[in-house]
Amino acid sequence: MIYLDNAATTKTAPEVVNAMLPYFSELYGNPSSIYTIAKKSKEAITASREIISGVLGAKPEEIYFTASGSEADNWALKAAFEAYKRKGKHIITTKIEHHAILHTCKYLEKERGARITYLDVDENGVVQLEQLEHAITPETILISVMFANNEIGTIQPIKDIGLIARKHDILFHTDAVQAFGRLPISVDEYHIDMLSSSGHKINGPKGIGFLYIRKGVKIQSFVHGGDQERKRRAGTENVPGIVGYGVATKYAVETMRERTQKESKLGNYMIQRINDEVPNCKLNGHPFKRLSNNVNFSFEFVEGESLLIMLNMEGIYASSGSACTSGSLDPSHVLLAIGLPYEIAHSSLRLTFSDETTKEDIDFTVDKIKEIVKKLRTMSPLYEDFVAGKRKSMIQ
Ligand SMILES: *Cc1c(COP(=O)(O)O)cnc(C)c1O
Repeated sequence: MIYLDNAATTKTAPEVVNAMLPYFSELYGNPSSIYTIAKKSKEAITASREIISGVLGAKPEEIYFTASGSEADNWALKAAFEAYKRKGKHIITTKIEHHAILHTCKYLEKERGARITYLDVDENGVVQLEQLEHAITPETILISVMFANNEIGTIQPIKDIGLIARKHDILFHTDAVQAFGRLPISVDEYHIDMLSSSGHKINGPKGIGFLYIRKGVKIQSFVHGGDQERKRRAGTENVPGIVGYGVATKYAVETMRERTQKESKLGNYMIQRINDEVPNCKLNGHPFKRLSNNVNFSFEFVEGESLLIMLNMEGIYASSGSACTSGSLDPSHVLLAIGLPYEIAHSSLRLTFSDETTKEDIDFTVDKIKEIVKKLRTMSPLYEDFVAGKRKSMIQ
């Protein structure tokens, strides 16, 4: 099997699993209790919090563990809105955010009276700073722009966006689920006030995330109850999850340079091979300001879903640009936002590597893509028209 869907989730690293195991068995104490095994749980949580805050240049007490990246995104937006709505009800975000942001924005618009601006992006998926600045009004209380996109890999000019937010005294949140552990991030240097992350995207366990909240940001509790997470997110802590997250973070940061260099090399190699060997295709996302492990292509005259299924039969696991999870075949909002026509958005494939991905995996995958694309095109009436000169390509 060749797993190229690491933007969806990653394998929990063996050292992460090993670090977690004792906290399921002998070290099961409730961190809020005062006897010895409970203290061990508490110390383990503190250690993870310190690892994570250290990576961001934050203080340990600014890290709030959540159950997922989605929860962190929900919390940041909903609670900031409630805390600052007396100042204004306007939030600025982008059209290419994860649904955890977009659907939360829709909720705030519909149910809470928020006004939301969804910024366009350019053809590479980059937010335009002039447009951002232009969208700011005296009512604007929050800017939420993702660090790096989960579908096309484009990295945003986060530092510049942070500067603009700071200049106008507006809170800045970033969904860094794809960036944390993969790109160096300093919350102070980038003027980030809130940041979301998720364990299972960096070889940590599922069901654990965090929200960084800068000290001084007024934000309401997300879960009411006990005193956990400085009373802002009650509930007995997911101790094994938090431990695993800490170990995964440490590993990700220690290996970041080496890993991303290796991934970039493989990614560029794959992009080059596909461009050279498969006609009528197009790389989606920024040509170089992109996540090192992301390759996203559209193959004209091919259904992305068919390509995906046929790759699956070869033991290759990837992802397509359709929201097939929701049972619909609407093309991805991200691909539409970068200006792809419906047909081209429908013909896309996302391949995301891990540090275990090899050149042999890439070669095998490209060979199969070539073969399958060719086969699918011979069955396409549109392609037949194209070959006969009765139809133009939409991407060349
Ligand atoms: C995966 C992902 C999320 C959601 O994280 P979960 O922990 O799966 O809820 C949010 N934003 C981005 C960019 C993601 O890739």
